[in-house]
Amino acid sequence: MLLLKEKIINEGVVVNNSILKVDAFLNHQIDPELMMELGREFSQRFAGKNVTKILTIESSGIAVALTTALFFHVPVVFARKQKSSIMNENSYSTQVFSFTKNTTNNVSVLKKFLPPNENILILDDFLANGEAAMGLAELVRQAGSRVVGIGIVIEKSFQPGRRRLLEAGYQVEALARIKAFENGRILFADDNE
Ligand code: 5GP
Repeated sequence: MLLLKEKIINEGVVVNNSILKVDAFLNHQIDPELMMELGREFSQRFAGKNVTKILTIESSGIAVALTTALFFHVPVVFARKQKSSIMNENSYSTQVFSFTKNTTNNVSVLKKFLPPNENILILDDFLANGEAAMGLAELVRQAGSRVVGIGIVIEKSFQPGRRRLLEAGYQVEALARIKAFENGRILFADDNE
């Protein structure tokens, strides 16, 4: 998606050879017009999937999940992160390792907001090792619902997340795919790479 690539080039900051900072438009300050366009794009890519609910993880997935949900006219649920794994009979929960923070979070969602037999679209800001997306898919499995697709704003194709998700059988749609950071420069993957 050209608009997003331009935004990444103009405002993204390469932190090291595996981390990109996009706090100017996605992770701290949020660009609402861009979020609308990302939502429109996701709604087109997952059209025909009969999405009934969108599931994301707090906090950076929420903005794009909301604009996507406006196009589908469905609710958004965001899984909450907790440091400790307090089991709660009212919640589904799983463990997610954070590659950027080097910590494991317990991620949970209240059962009443994730009922069975829903068609769930999972959305997140970044795809690196696929931990967050696999964790969200696990919550959907626990609920007895279906994952109809996984949408990612920025995929780092040099990390194994996409392969993991494809191997698990999911449709993955990433709006920008980065194949490498080279001397502070961002190299994008072609869509067929
Ligand atoms: P994964 O779970 O696929 O290993 O990593 C994705 C999660 O880690 C995302 O939810 C995002 O919060 C965070 N993340 C991974 N890589 C990056 C990155 O390069 N920049 C930022 N800002 N967050 C990242």
